[in-house]
Amino acid sequence: MNNCIFCKIIKGEIPSKKLYEDDEMLAFWDIDPQAPYHFLVVPKKHVADISALGEADDKLAGKILRLGARLVKENGGGDFRVICNNGATAGQEVFHMHVHFLGGRRLGSFA
Ligand code: AMP
Ligand code: ZN
Repeated sequence: MNNCIFCKIIKGEIPSKKLYEDDEMLAFWDIDPQAPYHFLVVPKKHVADISALGEADDKLAGKILRLGARLVKENGGGDFRVICNNGATAGQEVFHMHVHFLGGRRLGSFA
């Protein structure tokens, strides 16, 4: 999609610190980490948020979680938190669905 920063990262038009890539998925380190490790798993297909997923995306959505957990383990992470912001009021800034995986410190409760 035009003017989508994550589509541009996926196409290689904007650099990122990649952890993983396959036909469907890209994972890269967050540019503004909120914990000692913090990366994003992003489907290559442009989907704005979870609400925009269709039934045909069920497998893709599941893969995000399993891939993220595997990447945490491969990168020496321990316990981790998974966040997916949906909509501006919920803190979403990039409107191309992505899931945050972060950890490496004690994470407090959140509002
Ligand atoms: P969200 O607020 O859930 O939409 O999260 C967007 C995330 O993308 C934020 O944590 C940003 O730090 C991160 N981000 C934005 N631009 C880049 C970039 N060029 N490379 C890596 N992470 C980015
Ligand atoms: Zn996009």
